[in-house]
Amino acid sequence: MPRILLHACCGPCSLMPLVRLREEGWTVTVFFFNPNIHPADEWKKRRDAMREVAARLNVPLLEEGEAVNGGLWVRALGGVTKEGERCRLCYRPRMERTARLAREMGFDAFTTSLLYSRYQHHETIMDEAERASALHASPFLYRDFRPWWWDGIAMSKELGIYRQKWCGCILSMKEALLQQKEAAERKAAQKAERAARLAREAEERRLKKEAVAAKKALRERTGKNGVR
Ligand code: SF4
Repeated sequence: MPRILLHACCGPCSLMPLVRLREEGWTVTVFFFNPNIHPADEWKKRRDAMREVAARLNVPLLEEGEAVNGGLWVRALGGVTKEGERCRLCYRPRMERTARLAREMGFDAFTTSLLYSRYQHHETIMDEAERASALHASPFLYRDFRPWWWDGIAMSKELGIYRQKWCGCILSMKEALLQQKEAAERKAAQKAERAARLAREAEERRLKKEAVAAKKALRERTGKNGVR
């Protein structure tokens, strides 16, 4: 059976690529190499989740590197911090290392779980994988795993695999925190708006009730007095 080295960005994203590749007849080995995940605790959580997946699906796992300092990584970007642009620089070392390792270890091809995520820049990943493939004379197997997005989510939940809340690097963590803060603020504003509307409507109802009561009282008074 042909052997493939699957670069894995994390446990949950590697599930469906693993399943699909096996269904295609590949003998899969997983390679966890993601040095810019921030902070170090998060890197460990993702590595442990990857170990859990490897154990549960009975697949050999190779690991390399450890979390690098987030600040140093940003400095190494040389000002390319915009989401999308910096991602190319993030995919590059991962694809290069995977391609080189695949060739050194005699794999028939390599691929990556990054091709599963709907949140990643799919075409850029393809570019970088092709580039790494040419650089290291190591065949790249392109697959679009995104159609199995929901199956992967369901499977990771079923297996109880840790699911991260941001892509990985320190910048994506800050962006995710900012988005969460903005979402919380939006929710609080909507709640306050709803409360104000309900209070307004209650006040309108009270005033209406008062007016009806006043009218009734007037009718009763004027009725008694015989005034029309
Ligand atoms: S957002 Fe994700 S893909 Fe982009 S640079 Fe950060 S970790 Fe890498």
